Amino acid sequence: MLDADFFRRWMTATAASVEREAERLTALDSPIGDADHGSNLQRGFRAVTATLEKEAPDTPGAVLTLTGRQLISTVGGASGPLYGTLLRRTGKALGDAAEVSEEQLAGALRAGVDAVMTLGGAAPGDKTMVDALVPAVDALADGFTAARAAAEQGALATTPMQARKGRASYLGERSIGHQDPGATSSALLIAGLAEANGE
Ligand code: ADP
Ligand code: MG
Repeated sequence: MLDADFFRRWMTATAASVEREAERLTALDSPIGDADHGSNLQRGFRAVTATLEKEAPDTPGAVLTLTGRQLISTVGGASGPLYGTLLRRTGKALGDAAEVSEEQLAGALRAGVDAVMTLGGAAPGDKTMVDALVPAVDALADGFTAARAAAEQGALATTPMQARKGRASYLGERSIGHQDPGATSSALLIAGLAEANGE
């Protein structure tokens, strides 16, 4: 079973990898965006880390809803509301249980990813974070390490795609040949799950 500590470790591991990879995320957002994705998420996850320490939420659902709220108010751009919705919706689906199973987490994350697709209107193949998140959720039944590999593959697979959503879509065919920054950061989020589990 996964308790609030596991979810805090998940968010802390993600914050650490965003910190490590911020420059790379911003560099990916340069040719097909406005070169702010890394700094957006860095600002957001720094605020998340501070809030989690201060408010010490004590259920899995509360950790994720608090994180989502914080991301919405600090990240900005397209990705802030999308990541915020992902984590708030996932947290809401977990309810106020003190511990949840991996199966419950997989179901909740599925609801979160569905909410991202509803809010942003993106489907798999549109060259967005959805291209990492959907394969990750599909693979979650096989464990966190499988989900991490699926998310990383999904992010790599955005390179030959033409963007149909978000800022990159304004470039039309010129968006082809670049890896999507949001899919790349989503792979960091999913990798955080495996890290939180010691994998
Ligand atoms: P902005 O584009 O406003 O500068 P960011 O640079 O922080 O925001 O985030 C860009 C990322 O957001 C993209 O790489 C893409 O993965 C994701 N994104 C943008 N629009 C959408 C959308 N409609 N649905 C899903 N993801 C999206
Ligand atoms: Mg940007």
